[in-house]
Amino acid sequence: MILRYDRLAVELPKPKNPSPNDAAAVQELLGGKYGEMSTLMNYTFQSFNFRGRNRLRPFYDLTCSIAAEEYSHIEAVSYAINLLLTGQTVRGKDPVPGPLKDVADARNSYHFLSSAQAAVPFDSMGNPWTGQYVHASGNLKLDLLHNFFLECGARANKMRVYEMVTDPCARTMVGYLLVRGGLHVVAYAKALEKLTGVEVSKLVPVPELSNDAFPEAKKLQDQQKLHLKLYTFSPDDYGQVGKIWNGTHPEDGQPLEVLQGGFMGVPYPELEEEPQLNSPGADDYDPQMFADIAKKMGVKM
Ligand code: MN
Ligand code: MN
Repeated sequence: MILRYDRLAVELPKPKNPSPNDAAAVQELLGGKYGEMSTLMNYTFQSFNFRGRNRLRPFYDLTCSIAAEEYSHIEAVSYAINLLLTGQTVRGKDPVPGPLKDVADARNSYHFLSSAQAAVPFDSMGNPWTGQYVHASGNLKLDLLHNFFLECGARANKMRVYEMVTDPCARTMVGYLLVRGGLHVVAYAKALEKLTGVEVSKLVPVPELSNDAFPEAKKLQDQQKLHLKLYTFSPDDYGQVGKIWNGTHPEDGQPLEVLQGGFMGVPYPELEEEPQLNSPGADDYDPQMFADIAKKMGVKM
């Protein structure tokens, strides 16, 4: 089971230059083959389907902990997309002036036609995410090899999106994901090392560019050591992940640490109403009605 918090993992600044085409590029990190929906669903299915987990508990705990973290990553990417799309059409209720006409040339029209200027489960070219991106063979060595490759592929895409999109909102989110995804690369490398004795960590970083080249990522590593801390994302369970996540980081030699639970995160950024898209809907919803319902339910407003 997953315990959910109404918080976002990373604080995202308001975009300086919101842009639907920047948002379209960032979609690759959500619904692309190597996007966060893929990492989430790969590790989730691998954990559901893990046979013989009692004998191999640390590997199961690792897969479960990282799967849970990936949920917070699809949230972070989605919010960056939402913020990059905010304010991209003309706010108002009159359809006659064509309040959406400025985005007719946006690369991804689903942002405006099938969602209310918000994230969609598609890649940067509008291809829907598919379960065919999920690899859960049930063979531990093969799945860990795949996960190591998947995280390296994800890292390559993050680096390219960073190079394509210069807005600080997107770059803060990508910097965060580079740090946490970098940790996942090392985690799967270490898992393969424990399982086979092969020194997979010698391969990192893949691609061959340190996170230090990305100022937003470097800051999180220098100040918060977020490349060293593996969270279980559970108050009590998955603690045997410490049998894999121990020793030192292969790039800077600093000690690795397991933290039980998740991290606090920050409140979600407010998403303003977009009346030209009828989102969230009628503005004559009676606020007193909600106040009455809340009162009956004992909710303080
Ligand atoms: Mn991720
Ligand atoms: Mn990951």
